[in-house]
Amino acid sequence: MLHDELTLKITPTTTSRIDSVDWDNLPFGKVFSDHMLVMDYKDGEWQQPEIMPFGKLELHPATSAIHYGQSIFEGMKATKDAEGNVLIFRPDLNAKRFHESCERMCMPTIPESIFIDLIQKTVDLDRAWVPSKDGYALYIRPYMFATDDFIGIKPSDTYKFIIFTCPVGAYYSQPVNVKIEEYYTRAAQGGVGRAKTAGNYAASLYPAKLAKDEGFDQLVWTDAKEHKYIEESGTMNIVFEIDGKLVTPAEDADTILRGVTKRSVVDVAKSWGIPVEERQVSVEEVVQALREGRVTDAFGAGTAATIAQIAKIGFRDELFELPDPSSRTLSNKIGEFLNDLKAGRIKDEFGWLLKF
Ligand SMILES: *Cc1c(COP(=O)(O)O)cnc(C)c1O
Repeated sequence: MLHDELTLKITPTTTSRIDSVDWDNLPFGKVFSDHMLVMDYKDGEWQQPEIMPFGKLELHPATSAIHYGQSIFEGMKATKDAEGNVLIFRPDLNAKRFHESCERMCMPTIPESIFIDLIQKTVDLDRAWVPSKDGYALYIRPYMFATDDFIGIKPSDTYKFIIFTCPVGAYYSQPVNVKIEEYYTRAAQGGVGRAKTAGNYAASLYPAKLAKDEGFDQLVWTDAKEHKYIEESGTMNIVFEIDGKLVTPAEDADTILRGVTKRSVVDVAKSWGIPVEERQVSVEEVVQALREGRVTDAFGAGTAATIAQIAKIGFRDELFELPDPSSRTLSNKIGEFLNDLKAGRIKDEFGWLLKF
């Protein structure tokens, strides 16, 4: 819990770095805006949050997050409309997911309205860093990690919650080639796959590297028990169009990250009257449909790329080529709709945007 009387402290920078940014060349995640928010947890409560100049942290070598992985994060984007309003896409879903990650990882929660408010205030101070160019955005990275300087396995008593932001360029995602993975796993039932927690990503590096060596960009994860069901792709949720229906793995399994982008794709498709099936999706069914040419679209959905079309899918010794990406109605139409919405070019009929 936060103290009732807790107010946000703001210490603005005296030397903005904004003029030194090469706005036409923004590598993803390498350029950082002027400020960050830091809020510490100790003595059983959150302390006063402070927005301060972006800078380095000093950490004790025994900082427990580094050793034992009590560490979670979120990722979202702010964009600007033609009038200069900042728009943040569905932050309520990120707040909820962060809350769930906190609980699963035995970390103190932050009330969802406060989480959103702290993000809004952090972005507002750096609103000059929110690009207005089409496809550009300010990537927002809230995260929390355990800070006890203690060697031993137990939930930490102290934590740091930080928000920093990165202006990012248009993510021209080339269609990707993916491989259905039948040995390595991302998440097992009862594990932490649903939480956006650091170790999940460390664990995926090695299998992803092996797939790269075989010429694939990413893996399609399958269930840990039998490798019979499709879960997600890399760090994106996966969506297929089979026989004119949108088919995507249901999220009731606690092995799939509940993506905001995938949720939005499903919501938009439903509102357009496209049949949607969120259910268990077996590898066999997808492979059979691929062999018969009934998979007319397939893509990953995630905040970074929004929609990443899949060009080829590898399964054992077979390599299936999907229809020409530019000809695909579903992914192109939904991708365009979401980008138009984030740029404020169309009416926010779903009420998804936080505008300020
Ligand atoms: C973050 C993430 C996604 C995508 O979620 P969005 O909210 O759409 O960005 C999907 N899968 C994994 C494993 C992720 O970490």
